Amino acid sequence: MKIRELGKTGLKVSEIGFGGIPIIPLGVEEAVTVVRHSFDLGVTFFDTANMYGDSESKIGQALEQVRDRVVLATKTLDRSYEGAAGHIDQSLANLKTDRIDLYQIHNISKADDLEKILAKGGALEAVREAQAKGKIKVIGFSSHDIAMAISVCRMDLFATIQFPFNFIEHDPADELFKVAREHGMGIIAMKPLGGGLLERADLCFKFLQQHPDVIPIPGIQSREEIDEIAALYRSPVPLNETDQTKIEKIQSQLGKSFCHRCGYCLPCEQGVMITEVMAFRSMARRLEPPIALMIGQKAMDTVEACTECGECLEKCPYNLPIPDLLKEHLSAFGELADKQG
Ligand code: SF4
Ligand code: SF4
Repeated sequence: MKIRELGKTGLKVSEIGFGGIPIIPLGVEEAVTVVRHSFDLGVTFFDTANMYGDSESKIGQALEQVRDRVVLATKTLDRSYEGAAGHIDQSLANLKTDRIDLYQIHNISKADDLEKILAKGGALEAVREAQAKGKIKVIGFSSHDIAMAISVCRMDLFATIQFPFNFIEHDPADELFKVAREHGMGIIAMKPLGGGLLERADLCFKFLQQHPDVIPIPGIQSREEIDEIAALYRSPVPLNETDQTKIEKIQSQLGKSFCHRCGYCLPCEQGVMITEVMAFRSMARRLEPPIALMIGQKAMDTVEACTECGECLEKCPYNLPIPDLLKEHLSAFGELADKQG
């Protein structure tokens, strides 16, 4: 596996990284095996988050013996100084390390979140303080909103950007990645398989290999998954016309009902958690049913508040029939719950 520079951070990472969400439902032994197997195949970049259950501690346990040969990345969603400071120390302990190579402020997608993070007593203050003490090497951020991500990149506060990127969600390649490169930032692609929605891994990674400075971090749940991806990188094959036609077909099929999680439809005045509800089916494909049901319950409970006012319809740039899709996801949730008894 090739090693790439992560922007101008000084970090060198494998050309694909390891996304830490799917090991949450695995037992410790199995998770450790999957992480170690990925390392043995050449993966040296591992990304997780404080909020991903026990993912950090599983990764820490798996990589303790090879700590100096890997790059560890994690995140906090907390916006306050106290919360972020606590998360950093907790992550250091979970990851069994004395420094985190890349610490990211998670999901900066809204202006009021950014304001809280940058304010005195906000999360960035704690992260910078930890960096000054040597607990953190590099500070980055993640986002789901292109306009907000571009603004944040231009502020020169962060050294990396993590954003959804795949052949369905390819808009970041136009402006966002250009701005990030101009600012010397490392670029990390979350959801390279569309959050589980895209089943053709070969097409997904052929597409991503056209952007070699963008490091994808596919969520890995089994040895077989990383075996398949590593093989695609060992013998890369460029996209051909047939692949392109297939991609365009998938784009046009999903384009009608695929929620890009851009958040433009938010907020819903009735409190409906539109993006979380829309994410249910793809999440349910990747996670064990009890975990998917547990994670999805809170969002599903908000669907009945929808009055079909239509305000979100006007704001969705993809013209999705949001109230109908909410019902479809709720019904998929109900079917899964019934199957589980
Ligand atoms: S149609 Fe439903 S989900 Fe959309 S804004 Fe109105 S109440 Fe909220
Ligand atoms: S429903 Fe439309 S506007 Fe809302 S997050 Fe999904 S794609 Fe974006």
